Amino acid sequence: MRSYGETIFAEMTRLATETESVNLGQGFPDTDGPRSLLEGANRYVLEGVNQYPPGPGRPELREAVARYRKRHHGIELDPETQVYVTVGATGALAASLLSLVERGDEVLVFEPMYDSYAALISLAGGVRRTVPLRRDEATGRFTLDPGELRSAVGPRTRVMIVNTPHNPTGAVFDADELEEIAKVCRENDLIAVTDEVYEFLTFDGLPHVPLATLPGMAERTLSISSVGKTLAVTGWKTGWVMGPEPLVRAARTVNQFLTFSANGAYQLAIADALETEENWILDQRDALQRKRDRLAEGLVEAGFDVRPCEGTYFLMADIRPLGFSDCEELARALPSEAGVAAVPASAFYDHEEEGAHLLRFAFCKRDEVLDEALVRLRRWHVGRS
Ligand SMILES: *Cc1c(COP(=O)(O)O)cnc(C)c1O
Repeated sequence: MRSYGETIFAEMTRLATETESVNLGQGFPDTDGPRSLLEGANRYVLEGVNQYPPGPGRPELREAVARYRKRHHGIELDPETQVYVTVGATGALAASLLSLVERGDEVLVFEPMYDSYAALISLAGGVRRTVPLRRDEATGRFTLDPGELRSAVGPRTRVMIVNTPHNPTGAVFDADELEEIAKVCRENDLIAVTDEVYEFLTFDGLPHVPLATLPGMAERTLSISSVGKTLAVTGWKTGWVMGPEPLVRAARTVNQFLTFSANGAYQLAIADALETEENWILDQRDALQRKRDRLAEGLVEAGFDVRPCEGTYFLMADIRPLGFSDCEELARALPSEAGVAAVPASAFYDHEEEGAHLLRFAFCKRDEVLDEALVRLRRWHVGRS
C-alpha cells in the first residue's frame, strides 16, 4: 500500500482550510438529512438499541431495502439471504472485492474512477484494467467505447466494477451502454460489482437502471448502495450488498472478519426513512438539479467549459478555455488566488494525462455557498484578463 500515501483530496482540504476557501472539493452536503431520520436515530439509541446487531444487518433494514428495490426497479430480493448490511458502500465494496478477486485476477474499471476501487483491488491482490470513458463529440457526455471495453477483457478477467450514476463525471449510463456492459459480462462469464450510491440522484427525468435488471445479469451481479447520498447523511456509513445468494454469502463470509456488523440504531432509523421519506428523496434530487444548473452557469461565466452532468453531486469543468492545461497546478493555485477549492480530475485516472484538463466541482452545497464560490471565481477570472 506504499503507493497510496496522502491523497490529493486530503491535500486540497488542507489547502482549503488554510486559505479559508469555499470548498467545492469534497462531496458531502452541508445540510442535514430528513428530520424524522435524525430523530429516529436519537430515539432508537435512547430506547437501548446499542448492542451488536445481527452480522447481516437488522431484519427491518434488509426488508426495507428489498422493498424499495422492488418498488423502484422491480427487483425481487429475499431479505434473509440476498441483502447484507455493511459499513457504508465502502465496506460493501471491500467485502465484495476481497471475496471475489483472487491473486492475479483482473478487474475491469472505467476510468476516471472512484479512488477506493484501485486500493481495494490491490488489497485483494488483483490487477486493474481500465477502460476509458471518453467525450462523445456530439453530446459532450462521457461515454464508453464498446470496442475498447471488449478488448480490455482477457483470460484472467473475473470482475467488472460498474459505477452509475458515475463519480466523478456525472454520467448516467444509458440503455445502450448498459447492454454493452451486460453483453461483455455474459459472454466472458464476468461478475459485475455495481456501485449505485447515487441511484436516486439522476436529473432531467433520466432513469437509473440497475445492471442487475438486464437479461442474464441478476445471477452475476452484486449491487451496492448506501444511505449516505440518498438521505444526505454521508457520515452514517451504512450500506448494503444485494444479489444472488451465493455471491452475497461470499461477501458476508469476508465481512464477518472486516467489521462484522454496522451500527444497529442507525439501521432502524434508515429502515423507517426508506419507507416514509420518499418525497424528501425526490425533493432533494430536484434541489440538486437546480444546484447543478446554478453552478454550471456560474462556471461558464467564470470562463470554464462545463461538461454535461446527468446525476451525482459533481460536475466536471474543462480548464483549457482559461488558458490552463494542468489541473493539478490550477487546483493548487485556486485556493490562494481565488479562494475556492476543487479536485483535479487527474486524481481519478491511472493515465493522468487523460484527465489533466478537468476539475471536479461539488454542487451539494447551500445556494449561498455556491454563490459565494462563483462570485470569487468570476472576480478571479476578470482579474486575470
Ligand atoms: C460516496 C461514494 C462511496 C462511499 O459510500 P459510503 O456509503 O460513504 O461508504 C462509494 N462510491 C462512490 C462512487 C461514492 O461517491
